[in-house]
Amino acid sequence: MSENCLFCRIISGDIPSDKVYEDEYVCAFRDINPQAPVHVLVVPKAHIASAADVSAENSLYVARCFEAIAKIAAAEGLGNGYRVITNCGEDGGQSVMHLHFHLIGGVKLSEKII
Ligand code: 5GP
Ligand code: ZN
Repeated sequence: MSENCLFCRIISGDIPSDKVYEDEYVCAFRDINPQAPVHVLVVPKAHIASAADVSAENSLYVARCFEAIAKIAAAEGLGNGYRVITNCGEDGGQSVMHLHFHLIGGVKLSEKII
């Protein structure tokens, strides 16, 4: 974990957040600037900088993030669907350099990038 990383500090409890889920590998909390009625950030409890840094050594954290996403989506009532996004690097619009998955839903999402 990194002392200079916002999400490492949220995971450790150093910076407060509205946590919705936590286990050994994953921490999930509500985005401070929500883009939909449900906007949760699902974050591995290891300092992986971005999707570009996923490897055989740390990919269990990513798998656990997706297991958590399924549970959180069900708990948040997103049975009708949702979107999972990860921004990667400067051109991808990533602003916090600790891998995270945006879980967005609670409304019919109309913006389609792909
Ligand atoms: P990115 O732009 O890196 O894909 O996403 C970073 C996200 O972190 C943004 O949606 C932003 O609103 C959120 N964020 C930034 N600072 C904080 C914070 O201190 N607390 C929480 N809960 N979310 C934050
Ligand atoms: Zn970090």
